[in-house]
Amino acid sequence: MSRFDYIVVGAGSAGCVLAHQLSADPGVTVLLVEAGDADDNPLIAMPRGYGELLGDPSFVWHHPTLPFGPDQQVEYWVRGKTLGGSSSVNGMVYNRGSSSDYDALVRLGNEGWGWAEMLPAFTAIEGHQLDPSPTRGTRGPLHLSAAVDGEPLLEHVLAAGTKLGWQRVSDLNDVDGQRIGYTMATIGAGRRCSAADAFLHPIADRPNLTVALRTTVGRVILDGRRAVGIEGRRDGQAVEYSAMQEVILSAGALATPTILQRSGIGDSETLRSAGVKPVVNSPNVGARMREHRVFTLQYRLTQDAGYNRVLASQEGQQQAMVEYQTTGTGPMAAPSFDITAFFTSRPGLDRPDTQLQIAPFSILPPQPGEGMQIEQEPGMICIAYPLRPTSEGCVQITSADPDTPADIDPRYLTTAEDRATSVNMVRSVRTMLSTAPLASWIDRETVPGEQVQTDEAIIDAGLRTGGAGYHAIGTAAMGPRDEDVVDSRLRVRGVNGLRVVDASVLPIMVSGNLNGPVMALAWRAAHYLQAGA
Ligand SMILES: Cc1cc2nc3c(=O)[nH]c(=O)nc-3n(C[C@H](O)[C@H](O)[C@H](O)COP(=O)(O)OP(=O)(O)OC[C@H]3O[C@@H](n4cnc5c(N)ncnc54)[C@H](O)[C@@H]3O)c2cc1C
Repeated sequence: MSRFDYIVVGAGSAGCVLAHQLSADPGVTVLLVEAGDADDNPLIAMPRGYGELLGDPSFVWHHPTLPFGPDQQVEYWVRGKTLGGSSSVNGMVYNRGSSSDYDALVRLGNEGWGWAEMLPAFTAIEGHQLDPSPTRGTRGPLHLSAAVDGEPLLEHVLAAGTKLGWQRVSDLNDVDGQRIGYTMATIGAGRRCSAADAFLHPIADRPNLTVALRTTVGRVILDGRRAVGIEGRRDGQAVEYSAMQEVILSAGALATPTILQRSGIGDSETLRSAGVKPVVNSPNVGARMREHRVFTLQYRLTQDAGYNRVLASQEGQQQAMVEYQTTGTGPMAAPSFDITAFFTSRPGLDRPDTQLQIAPFSILPPQPGEGMQIEQEPGMICIAYPLRPTSEGCVQITSADPDTPADIDPRYLTTAEDRATSVNMVRSVRTMLSTAPLASWIDRETVPGEQVQTDEAIIDAGLRTGGAGYHAIGTAAMGPRDEDVVDSRLRVRGVNGLRVVDASVLPIMVSGNLNGPVMALAWRAAHYLQAGA
């Protein structure tokens, strides 16, 4: 059995940062284990190639949920399965969240995660296209640029936002108030910059770093109450690796709790009914999951604007590809959503509680396991979600077999607060769309449709036609109490030599998209690991 000082499970946003930081010390050996394969598909590097990738099981996991909502539908929660993890297939929106999110972590008893500590982590990783400033880094490996592509419709969208009192800004991460601007994206020179691009590929020749691809970890090997290695499968063969210092789970908020549970760490009753012998009774493993419920609104345009006319046909797609390959610009070079806004859903709030993202194209209803299909007629898509949901779902194994899907219960919008925020949010988006001069570009709302007006109908529509934000957190959340799965140094309670470093450890939602926050979190976590703290 091969031995390493550290074993990091999962080469996603967190795992790539950890591999980079831990292997910077030539005196330690690091194994990075990834279930997926290399990230060499050109659709990963091309920003809008990701729509196609989301349907391809060679590059993504499709985790089914339990049935939910008025139609009892099942959703498939997508996650990246390749080097870079979800950062290789995500929408590339770069968001840091609000400074108050991190200060709230400290108030919950998690010392070391406040804004004063997190801001330096963000500025260290950022390689901003904008000028340096005290709140912006330009020398880090993560390429960041704004999504300005000259589509005239988008300027009207920005103008409508400013009429509602939202400040138009060039860097959406620089201020915390109501604001709108071109999306800041993890894109450099027209190419996606995943966590693997920023942190892993540049250090591929470090002799003390080993990357095991196509290796799916089933469980952590425990010697009594100490993590001493991992076992899994590569290309159908059983493999084992041993860790001399620590095992770090960075498999993401859906997979990490299932690895813990299969290792005997979780709610004892859940483990027994799945056929796993409990070692540590930790009832919150897989519980307390929070996820954004994304409401989708689509509009038919009165004019031939936006990308549908180009992207709906094969001929148009080829033209867009040629434009991208020859100039690095055009619709294929943009992130998922060109415009982002943060606003308050009702008066009296001290900071935004909702996020809106807009792109000048529209899509057909998503089909399970398929990529995005563009509509023929000109259209525009808006997605919006309450930033800090309070509803809690869960992830629980039902079998010791890693190939058996876990039960994922989203429990979306189960709190009155989440429902009220969602309803106000949808009404605010509609107000924006009916603001001149943008209003003259809008023919009608096609999704959910103008007939959807009552509070109840809006919530039902959000559950039927919306989607997951791909931002699940909290399934191995940090906190100071015995019942919290990890402590503020991200050490798993009840076991030595085992940490969780990924989206699972956040007990409350960061306001917005998670890739940046997870990378910054891993950057800080590496300091604790290196200090043996
Ligand atoms: C489709 C999509 C769009 C998104 N859009 C955005 C966006 O625009 N902006 C943004 O900021 N965030 C976005 N996100 C969210 C963001 O990318 C994730 O929150 C973030 O990448 C999570 O990082 P992580 O390290 O926790 O997990 P991941 O990056 O998902 O990494 C987990 C890794 O572990 C591997 N793994 C899992 N199980 C095992 C196992 N048993 N053995 C070995 N390896 C395993 C996986 O294959 C994966 O590589 C999006 C996510 C998705 C899926």
